[in-house]
Amino acid sequence: MIQCEHVKKEYGRKTALADFSAEFETGKIIGLLGPNGSGKTTLLRMIAGLEMPNSGDIYIDGKRVNDIPASKRGIGFVFQNYALFRYMTVYDNIAFGLKVQKVDKKTIDKRVKELIELIGLKGLDKRYPSQLSGGQRQRVAIARALSTKPELIVADEPIASLDVSIQAQMVNLFRKLQKEQGFSFLFIAHDLSMVEFLCDRTGVMYHGKLVEEGRTKDIFAHPEHEYTKALLAAVPIPDPRIERQKGEVL
Ligand code: ADP
Ligand code: MG
Repeated sequence: MIQCEHVKKEYGRKTALADFSAEFETGKIIGLLGPNGSGKTTLLRMIAGLEMPNSGDIYIDGKRVNDIPASKRGIGFVFQNYALFRYMTVYDNIAFGLKVQKVDKKTIDKRVKELIELIGLKGLDKRYPSQLSGGQRQRVAIARALSTKPELIVADEPIASLDVSIQAQMVNLFRKLQKEQGFSFLFIAHDLSMVEFLCDRTGVMYHGKLVEEGRTKDIFAHPEHEYTKALLAAVPIPDPRIERQKGEVL
């Protein structure tokens, strides 16, 4: 369980999160929706430990984590501005977190190879980020987030920058990984058909608050907040590419 209690975050005179309280269940895929500037990125950065709240408390599985640094929170994260290490190969990028934890070489090797296979980049382990496509890089970032087997992964629009054909592939990959490894996955999304397809639960943020949260099915069938209603009313016909991939888990 991820709990936020009266969390406040201000940047100068700007309020990113105002008295934010929420509970997110673990073991689930949770999608966060909300307009630009509603505080989504700020929230994830604080849960990950990359940012400190001005006041309020954050608990993960009942433990207050405010004073625990990012590296000790056991959270994997994928942020757009938290890029791969440019001068490290795919292998070393994925191995990094395990090396920091002083895991022995043999175990690291096994885990890294397993992950490279999982993300479908076998044979590319010696490449550098500059030698990869955007989609491949993003997969490496995801493998890096998974390397230490975190129980929670937070991701800021992990696939938004990818080509649509790769997006569907990534969605299936997340589903498969989450099923196999059982971690919680809290991520910011903007593609509604993806949220509907992938997320067990959906949260909607507006003006620095969580205005609704619940089972994705329920939110989509009976949105309560005006913003959610407008957002869903504007939803175009489902993306046929994503529709086609449904049930076709890679
Ligand atoms: P979202 O991810 O939902 O678009 P953000 O969390 O990025 O929202 O931003 C919430 C608010 O906080 C916005 O008004 C934004 O301008 C402000 N903000 C976020 N990060 C910073 C920062 N580093 N410095 C100043 N203002 C920021
Ligand atoms: Mg953002």
